[in-house]
Amino acid sequence: MSKQYEAVIGLEIHLQLKTGTKVFCQCSADYDNSLANSHTCPVCLGHPGALPKLNEKVLEFAIIGGLALNCEINPYSRFDRKNYFYPDTPKSYQITQFEHTYASNGWLEYKMPNGNLKKVTIREIHIEEDAGKMVHSDALGESFINFNRTSIPLIEIVTQPDIKTSQEAYEFLNALKSILKYSGISDVNMENGSLRCDSNVSVMEIGSSVFGTRTETKNLNSFKAVSRAIDYEIERQIGVIENGGKIVQETRTWDEAEGITKSMRSKEEANDYRYFPEPDLPPVVVSKEYIESLRSKLPEFFEEKKARFMLEYQIPEYDAGILSEDVELANYFETAVKVSENAKLTSSWILTELLKVLKDSRIEIESFHINSENFGKLVKLIHTGIISGKIAKEIFETMVGGKDIDPEKIVESKGLKQISDVSALETIVEKVLSANAQSVADFKAGKDRAIKALMGQVMKETKGQANPQLVNELVLAKLNQ
Ligand code: ADP
Ligand code: ZN
Ligand code: MG
Repeated sequence: MSKQYEAVIGLEIHLQLKTGTKVFCQCSADYDNSLANSHTCPVCLGHPGALPKLNEKVLEFAIIGGLALNCEINPYSRFDRKNYFYPDTPKSYQITQFEHTYASNGWLEYKMPNGNLKKVTIREIHIEEDAGKMVHSDALGESFINFNRTSIPLIEIVTQPDIKTSQEAYEFLNALKSILKYSGISDVNMENGSLRCDSNVSVMEIGSSVFGTRTETKNLNSFKAVSRAIDYEIERQIGVIENGGKIVQETRTWDEAEGITKSMRSKEEANDYRYFPEPDLPPVVVSKEYIESLRSKLPEFFEEKKARFMLEYQIPEYDAGILSEDVELANYFETAVKVSENAKLTSSWILTELLKVLKDSRIEIESFHINSENFGKLVKLIHTGIISGKIAKEIFETMVGGKDIDPEKIVESKGLKQISDVSALETIVEKVLSANAQSVADFKAGKDRAIKALMGQVMKETKGQANPQLVNELVLAKLNQ
């Protein structure tokens, strides 16, 4: 970025709540794994006369999310109609909260990679309903509409324009995802669409108190994309201004393949939507007692869990931080430790081996097919000396490969048990020493390194299954006889 400009960034995040049923009717909220248009009813299809009713679970989850983000929960909120026509919206309006949102004035504080703390204000959160899904088939030259997603409950989290760089936005989203996942109200997954983010970006001269005109970018499909699109917008807007042009307030779309944003439509103003209070739903009134009862049930969050992990499992801060960033990973670790009975080894195996597999296959821990119990068993096999670390890696590969998932069974069926039988190993050691007179002589002449070669031979003889520590002891004992 040229020196004279600074960027102003605000994010709008849509989050699907995993309530089981839709927001204003009792249709199942499972919209992906079911036959198209099978989870619909007169209410979510907007038939005349069908009346919506707020799902209590939605309110509960929404408030939990608001509390997790340090918001004030407003005792009175209300629904409004946002009117617009689009084929995926059968009522031709969306029920949302416009004037009186249920939550406001929250904040999220998080650590930047350089260790600095950053705090972003959450201006408001409101409850609304999702739209259906259009499917365009090039092959058939036809478009289809699936209303299963219509009226899936959403909350929309709107930040103040407190963010200054793409990196601050990226870290914000990671922190937000972590805390929302902890809250247990959503799977918070950008890939399956349960989390969606639009970025608002403007630039102004450094030190100015007047914000520039902003653009809003949609269709961002990953946190990386959000970050790239912000950087692109900042550069583009500076370019326009430097060339004497003006930024138009508009909605743009991110083109992932080209790595650019493109104009989509001019920005609608609030009055384009003809908002008015939703006449079919009463205002939402929540008592202090209700809010406090939900607050008291909030789970242990990241910082607390991290501190507990360090204390309870005696693992370093860095490791505890990684394990507790994702609540599902933290749970996986804790159940694996119960089985392995060795926290340090379990932690280091997760940090090195397991996370590598997740990263390579780009999946999250919830979708990993090796459960925590089998993972714990594998670690236990290592720490009880039944297999070596090297063999364990081979077994883990087999498990990742997918067929034999139970490590104990793999060890049995492949005969991979570590050889810790002293007399059996002694025989092999003797055999190796007499076959490698030169190495023995080298060792006796003071070349300590010769022992490595001898140990290597023993490991080779046992196909890597000898207990390395024991081999080391036996070889030394024989050499020093
Ligand atoms: P709208 O009503 O058009 O949706 P809002 O005022 O609700 O606009 O703001 C939407 C988002 O845009 C918020 O996240 C807000 O922080 C951000 N925003 C507002 N003004 C600017 C600006 N000048 N530059 C960047 N972001 C902005
Ligand atoms: Zn319905
Ligand atoms: Mg808005």
